[in-house]
Amino acid sequence: MKKFRGVFLKNENEIALLREANRIGSLIREAMKAEVKPGVATMRFEEIAQDICRTYAVRPAFQGYHGFPFALCCSVNEEVVHGFPSRSRILTEGDIVSFDMGVVYEGFYGDSACTVGVGVVSEEAARLMRVTEECLSRAVAAATVGNSMNDISRAVQMHAEANGYSIVRRFVGHGIGRSLHEKPEIPNFVPAFGTPLPLKVGMVLAIEPMLTIGTHEVDILEDNWTAVTRDRKLAAHFEHSIAVMPHGPEILSL
Ligand code: MG
Ligand code: MG
Repeated sequence: MKKFRGVFLKNENEIALLREANRIGSLIREAMKAEVKPGVATMRFEEIAQDICRTYAVRPAFQGYHGFPFALCCSVNEEVVHGFPSRSRILTEGDIVSFDMGVVYEGFYGDSACTVGVGVVSEEAARLMRVTEECLSRAVAAATVGNSMNDISRAVQMHAEANGYSIVRRFVGHGIGRSLHEKPEIPNFVPAFGTPLPLKVGMVLAIEPMLTIGTHEVDILEDNWTAVTRDRKLAAHFEHSIAVMPHGPEILSL
């Protein structure tokens, strides 16, 4: 595979496989969203994810990754990312729940995430989710040849901060391909140092803004995975895997 400054550039065949991996991942995401309602245990979404993986003969990307025990990261309210699905965690009206799901298809990875409201949510929660999704849209739109990785980061940072939200710094977006996490790292803020990486055709990137209402600081719970906001205020997370194409960015995980 060709590389530019350490970043793999995918050819058409490779992008086609990444497109399929992400298409299946998106089917799972949409199937889970359709089941979100008060009274549902979050383990239900793990079952949906596992079922669809079996149907399409794909492997869940996260299960076993550094020992993560589930196919799905399911994070509720103050949980930012890497939450465990649970039989005892029952969704209630007004919660917000994030799904982060990856699959491996023919050796290529798909990765996407979204946050959805359970029933009717507060104005505060709805606005956080809307702005986080807008950050993702703006970041994707900035993923064009002629721009740099910093333009992606800046798009998230400006919109988040203009709306009064904090940006989680501990977790960042990433290149994706034959591995779940490839170079480059894509922070949701403009890094203070380093030469900006120009965007090239064939880069495939998982862009994933994580915004919070209060502090950007996170704690990791005793399960060694679940990241929660230090002040236990709400967080939202949206992610798409995109390919930088000659005509502009293509969202693979729609
Ligand atoms: Mg993800
Ligand atoms: Mg990711």
